[in-house]
Amino acid sequence: MKKLPLADKKDVRRWIRETARANKREFSVMLGLFCVATAIGLAGPQLLGALVDEVVGGTTTATITWLAIAFVVVLSAQAWFKGLARLRARVFGERILAKNREEFVGNALDLPLGTVEAAGTGDLLSRATTDVSRIDHAVRFGAPEILIAAVTVVFTVVAMVITSPFLALGLLVALPLLVPVNIWYQRRIPDVMRRMLDKWSELQSTTHETAEGARTAEALNLTGRRIRTGHDGLDAAMLGERKVRALQMRWIPSLEISYVLPVPVMLGLGLLAYSNGWEGLGTITAMLLYSQVMTGPLNEALFWLADMQVAGVSLRRLLGVRPAGSSDEASEAPRGQDIAVRDVRFGYNADREVLHGIDLRVPAGERLAIVGPSGAGKSTLGRLLAGMSAPTSGSVRIGGAEVSTLPDDVLRGEVLLLTQEQHVFAGTLRDNLTLPAGDWTDERLLAALASVGASEWVASLPDGLDTKVGAGAVAVPAAIAQQLALARVVLADPHTLVLDEATSLLDTGSARELERSLSAVLEGRTVIAIAHRLHTAAAADRVAVIEGGRVTELGSHAELLAAGGPYAALVAAAS
Ligand code: ATP
Repeated sequence: MKKLPLADKKDVRRWIRETARANKREFSVMLGLFCVATAIGLAGPQLLGALVDEVVGGTTTATITWLAIAFVVVLSAQAWFKGLARLRARVFGERILAKNREEFVGNALDLPLGTVEAAGTGDLLSRATTDVSRIDHAVRFGAPEILIAAVTVVFTVVAMVITSPFLALGLLVALPLLVPVNIWYQRRIPDVMRRMLDKWSELQSTTHETAEGARTAEALNLTGRRIRTGHDGLDAAMLGERKVRALQMRWIPSLEISYVLPVPVMLGLGLLAYSNGWEGLGTITAMLLYSQVMTGPLNEALFWLADMQVAGVSLRRLLGVRPAGSSDEASEAPRGQDIAVRDVRFGYNADREVLHGIDLRVPAGERLAIVGPSGAGKSTLGRLLAGMSAPTSGSVRIGGAEVSTLPDDVLRGEVLLLTQEQHVFAGTLRDNLTLPAGDWTDERLLAALASVGASEWVASLPDGLDTKVGAGAVAVPAAIAQQLALARVVLADPHTLVLDEATSLLDTGSARELERSLSAVLEGRTVIAIAHRLHTAAAADRVAVIEGGRVTELGSHAELLAAGGPYAALVAAAS
């Protein structure tokens, strides 16, 4: 399965840079508040050190009381600033995320349908749900804690070096463990984590497909197999998760050891310094307290670091969803309505070609029927003609412009594909009709519905155009769903229609009624009809026969019958 792309680390870094630049002020305020909170907190160990010195040197109760009050004031001020900074960080994170989510939805909607189909909707779904919530969690809660830890470590180390450079040497003992363990971990974790997220997304695809195809699975007695596939997917995802946690289980204890190690070393150095009279007891106390000040934020940061790494990969998956397509190609507008298909090759997978070099010209206004045996590639050609997928090689052009590179709003005015399955979106009838974006008046919408014979149904609705339809609301029968699709065609007004089994799922009565509406809509347009019932082909100007992904015959119904070739054989077989 072709996965949706993953943004590379460079893109993620660029996104962080651009986000930081665009929110410079808010970010500076937030960082400033964290710095103020940490700087205030640094006074705590100094006050306790001073307290020790006072007590050792013999002091009054008043001095001790004042030092204790100062200590409480420092702690309260630090807590207040930290709380304010955390609040701003969460609001800031939520705002960035909202923008990110909006961009993601926009990009996902702009993706070519062929790309989404090739990757499976599950991949897109898991990016829109699991990945977004992983980032959400990390940005709102993890990022502020990591920022606090980073600021605390930098400030505290500086304070320690200023207070006693000799005792600060004790910090170096952490490095021989810290550096190699981190290099080891950072080299392994990205791949393991990406594989784990891929497994989760595959599981989501499987679950989604099982739910969508539940009836088919039931009919074919495949329910047990689908459940097993689901369990296998879950096992694979859990295994991926376990591999990540196994790496972290070795990494986190090494980090914990590395930041406790300086304490005994500093105690030893303190003893040496005190006995030689280089440092007083107050300074040694302050230094030991400083080394402990870092423990809380570091623990918190460690707890979040793993989630931040997962969120980093999720961010790559989110930023990876960007519609491709070169703007140069897309900028060319059609100059005319003739369709030219030249040497088109196409395959859904790289290893299997379905169309093997199709050449076809359809002049504006023609009615062309495409016929051929099942699996010959008729629907595939229909999709390429409607610009839903791009050919692997060759070109499909309308008025000289490559169809698959046309922007959606231009494409809709040129060519539309009408199939047997018309989805009714949950929303109002108006929403369903105005899917082709536009500023439609009620009169236009009602006229479009009338032109496809749906007036009676609309009149029966409680709120007319504002009636909620689709899942959980007014049910829309298949024949009406087709009429709504036709009304959308009337509104978008494309000059070419590709029909793929548009009426084949309906019962005979509904199909006949719909065909009447359809013929009104087809009036004056180029029509390419994938004709599964051969009598439709007889009424077309020309018939193209597709066999094994190639056009094997092309001509009028009468010519092809007279030629006694594949078309004549198909007609004979059908009758
Ligand atoms: P029918 O009349 O049965 O609908 P058709 O002539 O329209 O057949 P297509 O649906 O275009 O044929 O299919 C052509 C080939 O491409 C078939 O072998 C089919 O299995 C394959 N195919 C169709 N859709 C996909 C897809 N989404 N992914 C992979 N292969 C596909």
